[in-house]
Amino acid sequence: MKNRDARAIARLHAIVKGRGDRLRAAPAAAHELSRYGIAIKDLEVVPVPRLAESVIVCVAWSNPLILPDNRTALCDHCGEAVQHRPYYPATAIFICTACAVVLAEAEGSNA
Ligand SMILES: [Zn+2]
Repeated sequence: MKNRDARAIARLHAIVKGRGDRLRAAPAAAHELSRYGIAIKDLEVVPVPRLAESVIVCVAWSNPLILPDNRTALCDHCGEAVQHRPYYPATAIFICTACAVVLAEAEGSNA
């Protein structure tokens, strides 16, 4: 568990550092955002393979799912069930919103 936490924090650290100036999205995610009229300034659209090691923040699992084709996964940090869009690679690190807040705060205090 400790190792897994360290790995999740290290990856989050890398993502937070790496994205400094820009948020990233898979092409399909960018398409969906525009379809729903959501514009994100300076969004970087990157190919799915480049998201393989990314930390994807996911909303909690729900029944029914928020979108019917969502996939389910377990939070890499606390193990709670989450849901995500189907195009994210299985090798991505999925974390729930609650853990994202905790990890982001830990990130901030270490800086
Ligand atoms: Zn969690």
